[in-house]
Amino acid sequence: MVTFKKKEKTMFENTYQNIELTCEDCGCTFVFTAEEQEFYAEKGFATPKRCSNCRSARKKQKLNNRKRYTVNCSKCGCETTVPFKPKEGKEVYCVDCYKIIKEQERAAAAAEVSE
Ligand SMILES: [Zn+2]
Ligand SMILES: [Zn+2]
Repeated sequence: MVTFKKKEKTMFENTYQNIELTCEDCGCTFVFTAEEQEFYAEKGFATPKRCSNCRSARKKQKLNNRKRYTVNCSKCGCETTVPFKPKEGKEVYCVDCYKIIKEQERAAAAAEVSE
């Protein structure tokens, strides 16, 4: 069994060669190494369409998207997303209402000062 595995490994090493691919996003050419190809084949992944830079950028983007929570604005009731988990009973506003509220707070603070 062990001998067979060793043989298989050697076969893999002989099969894969570094190849150049063109990134779908930025158009640059990047090397898809034999090592990566073996790893991708083992995991059952498809050949990458993007260079590692674009791939990590997309990963980050996905992560950011996943972290957003959909809530209803406490003021106008419209659906909006926030980057934090809203606390139960805590008021959450959409961008527009948040601006208005901040504006009002600023005006109220200014009025207090002038009194
Ligand atoms: Zn790229
Ligand atoms: Zn709103």
